[in-house]
Amino acid sequence: MPDPRAVVYRTRLTTRFRGLDARDGVLLRGAAGWGEFSPFWDYDDAESAAWLRAAREAADDGWPAPVRDAVPVNVTVPAVGPGRAQEIVAASGGCRTAKVKVAQRGPDGAVEPLDAEVARLEAVRDALGPGGRIRVDANGAWDVDEALRRLPHLDRAAGGLEYVEQPCADVEGLAAVRRGQRGDSAVPVAADESIRRAADPLAVVRAEAADVVVLKVQPLGGVRACLELAEQVGLPVVVSSALESSVGIAAGVALAAALPELPYACGLATVQLLAADVTDAPFLPVDGALPVVRPEPTSDALAATAPDDATARRWRDRLDRVA
Ligand SMILES: [Mg+2]
Repeated sequence: MPDPRAVVYRTRLTTRFRGLDARDGVLLRGAAGWGEFSPFWDYDDAESAAWLRAAREAADDGWPAPVRDAVPVNVTVPAVGPGRAQEIVAASGGCRTAKVKVAQRGPDGAVEPLDAEVARLEAVRDALGPGGRIRVDANGAWDVDEALRRLPHLDRAAGGLEYVEQPCADVEGLAAVRRGQRGDSAVPVAADESIRRAADPLAVVRAEAADVVVLKVQPLGGVRACLELAEQVGLPVVVSSALESSVGIAAGVALAAALPELPYACGLATVQLLAADVTDAPFLPVDGALPVVRPEPTSDALAATAPDDATARRWRDRLDRVA
């Protein structure tokens, strides 16, 4: 294993995600191990500072002790037809929770019709069986009326939703969706974008806008910062990835392992979306869970994810600017 302090990686994605075909970043090595700095390119230098704090914490300080040795994870089902949805669940490594994307726009810009979402949810329920759990993620795409109109149908199709993630874009919308549902069949609301890109993540709490919060280690500045935020928020936490390599995923696993309570499966099973990883022991679920371990990058894997010169230079420049 070579001993550089910063190694750039780049890999194709197996599935187009977040408008991306490839993922790249820098791995930083310190006294405590390896950390990942990989803000998406639409994050500016100021926003990227939190991502660097997370990488430095991993490399220089390590993480608080775990209170569990495995982290249950969900499979993510994008806006695909019912047959493909069942295949994705079946190939998930035993995941017992599925996150199904809804409110997605097709290439023509039109939102997918309700009956397509219903068919996908029925297929996922069929694949998971009665004991599985299903959540939907709208990525903030509905207005309040649309959310209130669609949710009862989606809830019925899924045989019960554990929650809806970010039904509307803003905190007021989330609060209105919570208030506007009928008590006995209300679908709990999870806040994702409203936490991670907000100037004030606690606005969600003050507005009573969520039942669950989604935390991501890099955009929120590290495992300890997330543990503090979780304590301030006082709501159940779901840890999610930012589509990192296994080195970055390890930080999410460390957070999920250190939380006092972990009532929901986490969104950390995303390494499958990368065509190549930086380690020979990638974070893939077994029996629906990830082990609480810290994979080391390996020479062969780093060679397989070596970037072109322009990408390498772009990351070193970015690191210099943000540091
Ligand atoms: Mg989300």
